[in-house]
Amino acid sequence: MGLQIYNSLSRQLEDFVPLNNERVTIYNCGPTVYDYIHIGNARTALVTDIIRRYLTYKGYNVKLAQNLTDIDDKIIARAAELGISEKQLAQQRGDAFLEDSRRLGIQPAEVHPKATEHIPEMITLIQTLIDKRAAYVIDGSVYYRVNAFAEYGKLSHRKPEDLLAGARVEIDKRKEDPRDFDLWKAAKPGEPTWDSPWGKGRPGWHIECSAMAMKHLGNTLDLHIAGEDLLFPHNENEIAQSELATGKPFARYWVHVAFLKIDGRRMGKSERNFILLRDALDNYPTEVIRHFLISAQYRHPLDYNPESLAKSEGALRRLNNCLEALSGSGKPEPTQLADTAVVEGEAETSLRAAVQQMKADFETAMDADFNTARAIGAIFTLIGAVNRFILKTETAAAAGVLAHARKALTETCGVLGIYTPQTSNVQSDSRETLNQLVTLLLDIRQEARQRKDWETSDRIRDRLKELNIEIQDTRQGATWKFSA
Ligand SMILES: [Zn+2]
Repeated sequence: MGLQIYNSLSRQLEDFVPLNNERVTIYNCGPTVYDYIHIGNARTALVTDIIRRYLTYKGYNVKLAQNLTDIDDKIIARAAELGISEKQLAQQRGDAFLEDSRRLGIQPAEVHPKATEHIPEMITLIQTLIDKRAAYVIDGSVYYRVNAFAEYGKLSHRKPEDLLAGARVEIDKRKEDPRDFDLWKAAKPGEPTWDSPWGKGRPGWHIECSAMAMKHLGNTLDLHIAGEDLLFPHNENEIAQSELATGKPFARYWVHVAFLKIDGRRMGKSERNFILLRDALDNYPTEVIRHFLISAQYRHPLDYNPESLAKSEGALRRLNNCLEALSGSGKPEPTQLADTAVVEGEAETSLRAAVQQMKADFETAMDADFNTARAIGAIFTLIGAVNRFILKTETAAAAGVLAHARKALTETCGVLGIYTPQTSNVQSDSRETLNQLVTLLLDIRQEARQRKDWETSDRIRDRLKELNIEIQDTRQGATWKFSA
């Protein structure tokens, strides 16, 4: 059985069949860039990354668009608070989001569209809706006429009376129906505005995503991924706008990622209980945060607490220790490669079978709606088998099967991004070694200064300077840094 995905639209697991054979398009509702993202937001971004990596592993050619909402009420309010322009704030927090994502090992999307760079596309889409009598203009604002779309509510599965209760009903008596929502907001004093056929103003949030998704991925995309808080009204409205405009299904599979909790409560800005991703990354290695965030399947609740993080740290230690042990013994000696007489015994055969089993279990787990928790379980079952094998077996034939195990482990861990082969260790090792070497030179320089050997002292300082290492003499002793 192939990949199955839980579709919020049908509320069922469905076989995954992309629109265009091996090509898969994904849209991910990205952040509104008024602040740094918290680790709850990061869960959605990371699930998107892993879905993309797994589809690539399965041989699909994936195109991901992840937007940045860079104009919105929240941005206007925060910029005013900080006394900077909306543009400055959005640029700064947008860059910070991409930097935080990179630190979490998230591969950049093929395209990161910004709302303010797609105003003409939004205007065209709104005009199409007006032409189809699905939108109306009042005093320079444009509203979507929910009554025009018979299927409204199909994603959130809400009854008309619930939709009414759930709509963000700000007191606006001009609207025909309280469920109708802004497509274009007429200019208010002091707000950034753009020209439009209906006068100066700015786009509504929902139309931004419809316009950006269709511009970069076509009228029908394969996967639409968002946090579960966006299902209604945001995603419901995206469907209403896009499908009425094009007459085609907007997204084939709607994926919604569950909230991250902290001490049993939903992590969120409005609840004022959250941990910024950048702070978490200052305290834990990337792989530990990734492991924690995928230690539950994405539709299941997950609680952020020190115990869970400690568990992930422990798991990562086991994983790294095992792969380190394999990197030593896993490379067959050339003589062994040439030696056809090496015969694998029972232990090797059974480890080989365990490797095959791990790969099969990993794929079965990921095919079951990206069950990362079970996929990690399969990896650690093999790690246990490898550790037992290494303890007991020391045969000439071991190297081949261990190399085989190492390849399978690095490949599957690579899909989840929970193992970065050597480089991170090597980098931190060499940084540490460099620090020790420079400190040694600073000690020698200090001794020279004490015996008034200025020539040696200056020579050390000058030679280091040539290497872009700058010494700073402080009351606590000399420190160093790379010069700019
Ligand atoms: Zn969106």
